[in-house]
Amino acid sequence: MTQTISHYINGELDAGSGGRTGAVFNPSTGEEIARLHYGDRATLDRAVSTAAQAGQRWARQSHAARQAVMFKLRELVIANTDRLAEIIGREHGKTILDAKGEIGRGIEAIEFACNEPHVTKGEYATNVGGDIDVFSMRVPVGVVGIISPFNFPIMVPVAMMAMAIAVGNGIVWKPSERVPSAAMEFARLCEEAGLPKGVFNIVHGDKEIVDGMLEHPGIAAISFVGSTPVGEYIYRKGTSHNKRVASFTGGKNHMVVMPDADLEAAASAFVSAGFGSASQRCMAVSLLVPVGQATAERLRELVIPKINALKIGPYNDPAADFGAVISAQSKQTVLRAIDEAVKAGAEMVIDGRDIKVAGHENGYYIGPTLFDHVTTEMELYKQEVFGPVRGIVRAASFDEAIAITNLHEFGNGAVIFTRDGKSAHRFMSEVEAGMIGVNVPVPLPVGYFNFGGLRRSKFGESHMFGPDAARFYTKLKTVSQRWPNPDQQAMPVSLAFDASA
Ligand code: NAD
Repeated sequence: MTQTISHYINGELDAGSGGRTGAVFNPSTGEEIARLHYGDRATLDRAVSTAAQAGQRWARQSHAARQAVMFKLRELVIANTDRLAEIIGREHGKTILDAKGEIGRGIEAIEFACNEPHVTKGEYATNVGGDIDVFSMRVPVGVVGIISPFNFPIMVPVAMMAMAIAVGNGIVWKPSERVPSAAMEFARLCEEAGLPKGVFNIVHGDKEIVDGMLEHPGIAAISFVGSTPVGEYIYRKGTSHNKRVASFTGGKNHMVVMPDADLEAAASAFVSAGFGSASQRCMAVSLLVPVGQATAERLRELVIPKINALKIGPYNDPAADFGAVISAQSKQTVLRAIDEAVKAGAEMVIDGRDIKVAGHENGYYIGPTLFDHVTTEMELYKQEVFGPVRGIVRAASFDEAIAITNLHEFGNGAVIFTRDGKSAHRFMSEVEAGMIGVNVPVPLPVGYFNFGGLRRSKFGESHMFGPDAARFYTKLKTVSQRWPNPDQQAMPVSLAFDASA
């Protein structure tokens, strides 16, 4: 029998009042494995008011008490990594190893959130004038709405939520409707860690719930990760409803390889960072940009056998390098992008269209596909392809490689492989990307640094992870205080505007 997945409100499973449901699939087999309840506005209202009330009580708990819950949550996520990885793999299609990797990065965000007293404590200045002390304090924003994508069912939402919870907010999370089960498991772990009921709530659904969140007067802040068109819409609509919005969106990450680079290492890095997770990562390397003809020829020679050696299979095949893409629809979109690239005149070097995975004929598999001689006019350069299709864009010079990288509308990550410090410095100064790698293929920073792209890869000023997250999920107040001095004479009336009075 197909499992049914409900909302999670005030510590209880809740079927909601919407009545709509949607299918959840196992991409490795193509089977429907669950029905998901889609929430409506009434369900959302319940979740928001629960989060508001429980969040206020949670915020009144001491830093130490909240930290204790976060420490416990960290231990529980570690202890349940295998279980979570299985749940992620089954609904997402990524390999168990890959799922464990994302859980590890989620744990980093929880670890950083354990530092919340340090990153939220304020500044203090004594006797700024007339016995007045001034200090700043940070208080939780209230209720935070989290809207997450399918491609990291745990890492991305936990990267957003860990600090939001730790600083004392109430949470309403709308997971991707394609991968809802990891969220339910995370709820169980929060409960076991001692997070009070109602602080953390899940409402499943689609655009209806997202719109409800963006308009809801009870939600103070929205954290979104997903595609650029949706992220831009969310930013504009959310801010027009007077919310603070942090929106992290698409990527098309270039990897520039200089003639002096270790080409063997660069080739391995391109294949790993390009095809990992069936290329369904915002930080995946999408385009290889070799500088000079000789570099391009040699790299092409080196990457072909490495790509041909990749094994594609179901998420639970330990020998698989990557698995299926998320849905039948996504598979069609990726296949269309391949056909279009062929029509546009890119040279198809490796064709993954006809791959068959024995015993999993209905899974959404696409083999690794490589194009050479991609140009900046082609859709394959312009569009983010969320599937295993990568391109080589040849650059005649370093200047041209930088220009190609900066021409793209996205600026999530960019990478250079070189042995020359001067080239690396020029790259990091001139390339408009939020995360830069130097001989590092996926420059996803550790949890105590800020994460976020530039250009149309991010809307809003805040970052995920790092100290910026603590600022985003708190409001700043600045207090000027003077306590009565018994020896002082009564204060005379003065209408002068005097800061030192
Ligand atoms: P998506 O934009 O389709 O969905 C993201 C979320 O928005 C989901 O919860 C979904 O239900 C909701 N949504 C979808 N369409 C909507 C609409 N029309 N109106 C309102 N809400 C809507 O993204 P996805 O396919 O789940 O994830 C892949 C995308 O996420 C890629 O573009 C990838 O680059 C991006 N991503 C970015 C980062 C980053 O940090 N910049 C990280 C991970 C993924």
